[in-house]
Amino acid sequence: MAGAGVCATDLHAIEGEMEPAGLTLPVVLGHENAGHVAAVGDLVTTVSVGDAVLVCPPHTCGLCVPCRRGRDMMCEQHQFTGLTVDGGFAEYVVVSERSIVPIPPGIDPIDVAPYSDAGITAYHAVKRLAHLVVPGSTVVALGIGGVGHVGLQLLRELGSGGTVVAVDPSPQRRALAAGLGAETVLDSEGVVDEVRDLTDGRGADLVMDFVGTDQSHAAGIEMLVRGGTYSIVGFGGMVSVPSAAMVGNEITIVGNLVGSWIDLWEVLQLHARGRLTLKTETHPLESVNDVLAMLREGQITGRAVLIPDSSNGGERA
Ligand SMILES: [Zn+2]
Ligand SMILES: [Zn+2]
Repeated sequence: MAGAGVCATDLHAIEGEMEPAGLTLPVVLGHENAGHVAAVGDLVTTVSVGDAVLVCPPHTCGLCVPCRRGRDMMCEQHQFTGLTVDGGFAEYVVVSERSIVPIPPGIDPIDVAPYSDAGITAYHAVKRLAHLVVPGSTVVALGIGGVGHVGLQLLRELGSGGTVVAVDPSPQRRALAAGLGAETVLDSEGVVDEVRDLTDGRGADLVMDFVGTDQSHAAGIEMLVRGGTYSIVGFGGMVSVPSAAMVGNEITIVGNLVGSWIDLWEVLQLHARGRLTLKTETHPLESVNDVLAMLREGQITGRAVLIPDSSNGGERA
């Protein structure tokens, strides 16, 4: 292990909310893993000792119907590194060859570890709706955290010219969003009215919710244009909307679950071409509990990455 990103899902796991996803204790958390191959099994052919790699967290059999459709998260033999099997908050992690994504030359694994979940998830969610990000459309990204700050950039990279609005209660994260190219940056307070004002009363064509609380769900749906699409990436709250309003306004609600190996491979190629900025800060693995507390308190801007055997934390991008 070179580094492991720390994700809000780790907090959900600690709070006992991941049992429905197959988590049983004890387990080593850590699903945003990057490092160098330390050893390989006899039948491994595509990676060698010393290779710099990301670990795609879903385990896939390659043989079931969802796997053959490229829907890795729906694999009938599904496991997930760092949730259902031991993950990367450790010196070593054991994974199948199918989970390995090679890191392009010249990139430090520590700098790209969070793509393994934050990146793959943002990419999967934006790619499937990128056709809605057309000139004249307004897209709202709710929450500019670890996933949201990547998603914001992907709305620009994969979309074709919609106006991108970023929303976050934190001034630091709003500044990050502005630096990453959001055309308008808003506080979450009063955001529904602000979005209506920005769009001459129409509303947002697409809302990407990277937060996932009762409040963000309600605001996200309320700020939609008629015929709009609300896409859920962050989770934890309850979506509540009258079916008459869904039908009358023809609203689409989309759920997103991580992504496939090819999503991770593609987002990494985009990074290698210099099209994406991943904001990370490093901390020694020993301080995992402090970092989790900071994340819970909203004190992380971008992504924290835990590094084994290191006392040198610090800001990287
Ligand atoms: Zn995660
Ligand atoms: Zn499968």
